Amino acid sequence: MEKRIAIFPGSFDPITKGHENILRRALPLFDEIIISIGKNSSKQNYFSLEQREKWIKQVFANEPKVRIESYTGLTIDFCKKVNAKFILRGLRTSADFEFEKSIAQNNKVMAPEIETIFILPIPEHSAINSTIVRDIIRNGGDASPFVPKEIDVKAP
Ligand code: ADP
Repeated sequence: MEKRIAIFPGSFDPITKGHENILRRALPLFDEIIISIGKNSSKQNYFSLEQREKWIKQVFANEPKVRIESYTGLTIDFCKKVNAKFILRGLRTSADFEFEKSIAQNNKVMAPEIETIFILPIPEHSAINSTIVRDIIRNGGDASPFVPKEIDVKAP
């Protein structure tokens, strides 16, 4: 049978407990999940690509089904390149829903063979987002309650 491959696209700037939890819960559904770091030219990242990849590798070091790749261009084109039929996304808020809905529906028109799969965060992760985590780090606060236990995030 064909391998069930999903991509989990995002900027992971940095990876949070929210990302980690969504990915771990999705693992039983797929043979492989590719954490796909989008290199979006219009988006200024705080942590370097190398640093973000390093942290993700540390978190999933014992998980053979997880791979990491970076990409530019359309997410559906990247899916085709790596033969992924599923896009995994988290849905925290109604704002996420509206945003994700239009992207997923437009992707569906462009690439009908690809399904977007949404997972809701557990309640305690609903308020975690990378923007707030970056703000905490930038201002010298302790971000450890919000990031995976394997990593030690420090300002660059
Ligand atoms: P993007 O810039 O594409 O939103 P992110 O790295 O911020 O990239 O997020 C990647 C994915 O992880 C998105 O689908 C986002 O909704 C999801 N996500 C981020 N934080 C959480 C969280 N706390 N709980 C659940 N999903 C989350």
